[in-house]
Amino acid sequence: MGPMDLNSSHVSPVLTDSVPVNKSRLGIHSSLLTYSQQDSSSPHSAAPAPAGKLPRTGSRKSAAGSIDDVRFNGWLDAMKASSPPRKKLLKGSMINALLPSNIEYDNEDYHILTVDYPSALECFEKIVERAKNNKVAVFLDYDGTLSPIVDDPDCAFMSEPMRETVRSVARCFPTAIISGRSRDQVYDLVKLTELYYAGSHGMDIIGPFRHNMSNKLPNCVNSTDHQGNQITLFQPATQFLPIIDEVFRTLVEITKDISGAKVENHKFCVSVHYRNVQENNWTIIGQRVHDILKKFPGLRSTHGRKVLEVRPVIDWNKGKAVEFLMESLDLNDNDDVLPIYIGDDKTDEDAFKILRESNRGCGILVSSVKKESNASYSLRDPNEVMEFLQLLVRWKEREETNHFNKQIKVKV
Ligand SMILES: [Mg+2]
Repeated sequence: MGPMDLNSSHVSPVLTDSVPVNKSRLGIHSSLLTYSQQDSSSPHSAAPAPAGKLPRTGSRKSAAGSIDDVRFNGWLDAMKASSPPRKKLLKGSMINALLPSNIEYDNEDYHILTVDYPSALECFEKIVERAKNNKVAVFLDYDGTLSPIVDDPDCAFMSEPMRETVRSVARCFPTAIISGRSRDQVYDLVKLTELYYAGSHGMDIIGPFRHNMSNKLPNCVNSTDHQGNQITLFQPATQFLPIIDEVFRTLVEITKDISGAKVENHKFCVSVHYRNVQENNWTIIGQRVHDILKKFPGLRSTHGRKVLEVRPVIDWNKGKAVEFLMESLDLNDNDDVLPIYIGDDKTDEDAFKILRESNRGCGILVSSVKKESNASYSLRDPNEVMEFLQLLVRWKEREETNHFNKQIKVKV
């Protein structure tokens, strides 16, 4: 895999979606193209629907029913339930968010989780048994998977050992990070040119160059990076950029009097963090976000770990991003491929689901407490993720040595 340069200013900034695609192997259908966020009755309405888009039809509810992904009546419960207790401290242990290895967990909680989702460390041999003779591709979420969940999302740094581990993984297998953050932001945190990156929950992807991808998909262009490497850039929600920008500014405005609230612009989506907001203000935040979204029928909200995610109503998610990357890696048609996806959040469930339904991959949930998931296995925290990735690298090196030795024997 060639090194990637992710400076987005060096790829075509103007993307069009004029190529009609009704249905592709990626499951992208015309609805992806035809939704207009226009709502002339609203003072917050976005720019008129881009040329070539069909007007939104039907009631607001039917067009954008998914803004009710989180119904207001359930806001508070959903907000409370959106993140498990981050660390369960045992007597005498010290809190240090940047040193999660210092934290002792409630083992009982984790053991309950492993009944349904066995530890990927304990089941490692079983997992690599499936990987044998298969091409492995590794997909990794960032926050809570490679980095600890911390109070300030700007300080969610990955450790140097983790960075080195991910680098080694990328040397062995095609590897991609799929994050809710903007692509530039996640690259600034990971700082590895050996990987592919998908930001904004997969709505902003740089993948390997493939000739025919742009024919198959709208909003997909072939381009080159800084070093002249050819790449494929895919941004299925380009038409939402003005509305995202507007909702970001509105959300900043309506949360500025709520202490601890933090709004982040992730280019194709916006995050409203409430981890540091007093619990008695959660309802106010939920109510205000909910009310604002009524004025932006092209957007919907979903829950992450103590965060409300505001994103375009399009049929695209981390699962679709995995399929896109598999396709651009030329791995989608092969039965001898084992995609491994590791993530900790609700948005990762779309990827777990894709792997489960296609019955070909291995979804690993990062959690220390019981959760419902489409994953098959679990890891307790980023430290265990690192351990698992290191095992995977060592397994691959062993496989290659064995293969090499066999070839030598044949020659002798
Ligand atoms: Mg995460």
